Amino acid sequence: MTDFNTLSVVELNDLKANLQEKYEEYKSKRLSLNMARGKPCPEQLDLSMGMLDTIKSDSSLISQEGIDCRNYGGIDGLVEAKELLAPLLEVSTDEIIIGGNSSLNMMHDTIFRAMFKGVPGGDQPWGHYPKIKFLCPSPGYDRHFSLCEFFGIEMIIVDMLKDGPNMDQVEQLVSEDETIKGIWCVPKYSNPEGVTYSDEVVDRLAKMETKAKDFRIFWDNAYAVHHLTDKPDQLKNILHACKEAGHPNRPFLFGSTSKISFPGSGVAVMGSSKENIQHTKKQLSAQTIGPDKINQLRHVLFFKDFEGLKDHMKKQADIIKPKFDKVLELFDSELEGKHIATWSKPNGGYFISLNTLDGTAKDIVALAAEAGVTLTGAGATFPYRKDPRDRNIRIAPTFPSLEELELAIQVLCVCIQLVSVEKLLK
Ligand code: PLP
Repeated sequence: MTDFNTLSVVELNDLKANLQEKYEEYKSKRLSLNMARGKPCPEQLDLSMGMLDTIKSDSSLISQEGIDCRNYGGIDGLVEAKELLAPLLEVSTDEIIIGGNSSLNMMHDTIFRAMFKGVPGGDQPWGHYPKIKFLCPSPGYDRHFSLCEFFGIEMIIVDMLKDGPNMDQVEQLVSEDETIKGIWCVPKYSNPEGVTYSDEVVDRLAKMETKAKDFRIFWDNAYAVHHLTDKPDQLKNILHACKEAGHPNRPFLFGSTSKISFPGSGVAVMGSSKENIQHTKKQLSAQTIGPDKINQLRHVLFFKDFEGLKDHMKKQADIIKPKFDKVLELFDSELEGKHIATWSKPNGGYFISLNTLDGTAKDIVALAAEAGVTLTGAGATFPYRKDPRDRNIRIAPTFPSLEELELAIQVLCVCIQLVSVEKLLK
């Protein structure tokens, strides 16, 4: 296909007229397609409907340990829920807390407690510093950045490379600033780039010397079992690596069944060293008399064990893999060789990350919106919603039907080309 950069002004103008015509055609269809957030589609949710039949009014709701799940208590979760979900984080059952319905909620609360009360190893609560900072490998997950903004935590961008954050930058920064207290990591099939951290990156994160004695890695393993192929990416165990490096309290691990069972009605988990877990459990008892154990039980009865959960994820992959394939196929046929965009080809997770020409992402997203295709806002994948190169667009293929998705990506491809041609003509 023709490299757009080699076209003459006359050729570019012809192309522009042609693309404009196509765009107007799409616009006249009055489309309403939303690809803004990475949500499971109804067919994926249907797979978990059996969970609602696991508990009937005459079911026994007494747990393995004899706890009546209908009542208060069980602050850190049922033993059987720990057995089901500890393998998700690859921790032992005394290194996990089963939470409520959202891991983001657990991350929020973890930062909140650290701000007010501090964490083991620290001299004072984080909130007592005039300012604290987090490292934000970017592009990254917008809600991590919103949490930092909410708590007034300054965000420092670190580049994302093909195998995780740029560790030269990370090591340098944490070695010289005591107020850098944390780093956000989505270590497997990262949001949005689909990157899985290499063993070397995991080891360097575990071993690095930090000026802050109470530095924490926020290891959000939201896509731990969300494979799209039968050759899943492998991720080294961060808790083991940190223990080996002599920094057992460094990582806080998070995960949930949001994109396994029902987002909003799933079960969230947090893992860490025994010391961190004990510390957190004590603090939790001020916040709640206990989580939703009936939902934990439903998950245990439905999945039975971790193998059952993994089998369930294969069924999910069968539904969403064709959608990822469709997006990649269209990008290949519409954009390949034109030198106006590059995109990720993830082995799992929920997103495809698209990079367009510098300075074009906002205009592309706006143009697509005008034609009825809503995408994640340009800039959302960077701290303060400011993409320094204005080029990253997050594509979330899971929710729309295959037909809707095809149409939405066709519109997007026209918008990318149109805005690129306009940029090249300037
Ligand atoms: N972490 C990441 C990286 C996500 O992409 C998402 C949802 O998109 C979440 C956390 C939200 O998880 P939960 O529903 O458990 O709060």
